[in-house]
Amino acid sequence: MDPTPATTRIAQFDVCYTQFLDPQGRARGELPGFAADADEMRDMYRWLALTRAFDKKAVALQRTGRLGTYAACLGQEAIGVAIGKALRPEDIFMPAYREYAAQFLRGVPMQNILLYWGGDERGMAYPEGTPAHHDFPLSVPIGTHVPQAVGVAYAVRLRKQPRVVLASCGDGATSKGDFAEAVSSAKLWNLPLVFLVNNNQWAISVPRERQTGAQTLAQKAFAGGLPGEQVDGNDMIAVRHVLERAVERARAGGGPSLVEAITYRLHDHTTADDARRYRSEDEVKAAWERCPIKRLKAWLEGRSWWTDADEERLQAEGAARAEAAAQAFLTTPPEPPQAIFDHLYERLPSQFEWQREEVKSAGPKGDC
Ligand SMILES: [Mg+2]
Repeated sequence: MDPTPATTRIAQFDVCYTQFLDPQGRARGELPGFAADADEMRDMYRWLALTRAFDKKAVALQRTGRLGTYAACLGQEAIGVAIGKALRPEDIFMPAYREYAAQFLRGVPMQNILLYWGGDERGMAYPEGTPAHHDFPLSVPIGTHVPQAVGVAYAVRLRKQPRVVLASCGDGATSKGDFAEAVSSAKLWNLPLVFLVNNNQWAISVPRERQTGAQTLAQKAFAGGLPGEQVDGNDMIAVRHVLERAVERARAGGGPSLVEAITYRLHDHTTADDARRYRSEDEVKAAWERCPIKRLKAWLEGRSWWTDADEERLQAEGAARAEAAAQAFLTTPPEPPQAIFDHLYERLPSQFEWQREEVKSAGPKGDC
């Protein structure tokens, strides 16, 4: 007869979910301190709207053949704004590819994002003197930058700098080994690192429930020994509050944490995708009811902090900024073909030198 197996309860976990505003923009309780600052709240709303105007313009440029494949952030703007507000200038942001608002807030000009999706690496050369200057380029490969964030945070700790690294990734990235490795190492070294998971419910055409057997993505933190929590990623106030708390905990030596921001990808995965082929119109229609912009606007209007005239001015500003970015992008002379060799290595390996020269001598069209 087998002996009775011994069972030891190691730990138990609760996954916290934070929401301050319901989808109609009604406060569900006492709000964080920053919500009492009308100018600050209007500024966050402004960045939400400017980002949406940019996003719309980028899709239009792609649809008219003037931009390459583009990954829209429609419906997920609050996460980007929250990152931009939660980080200090000296912190380091390592983005995936939908948190444009954070990049704008950290000083990346809108046209840089267009340049990048237009195939021009100069888009990822962020202006000197801005917080973005020490941030990382967009990471399109899924999750590969997440372990790199561990390395960056390790460097920060070694140098004893009071800086925090924030790495964003999507829900699909949490199913990759890169993510598990990063989570496993982060607490081991107690790094000043925040993992932000943008859970927009879809990894291209794979829905959240077919990506993982885990009940939440936040709980993937627990195996690595770090805190994980969920937040309503469409609630501007909640997502900023939770991220600020995580960032400041990391700065104070409290170590890494994981925030799962629950949102919805209202657009196709990218402009190379057609989501109508794999999800229902009803699902998307229901998600529009949880739109972060509509929600914050309703809250601002409820406090008489926003008028129709304010909205009109903001819409005009958004359209003008997006148009200016488009014109700056469209009128930027292309790089010479050999530039494709110039941004991958600090010093070009010798086996590429002759290739570079060959491309260069083939002329601007590269027709060798
Ligand atoms: Mg996703």
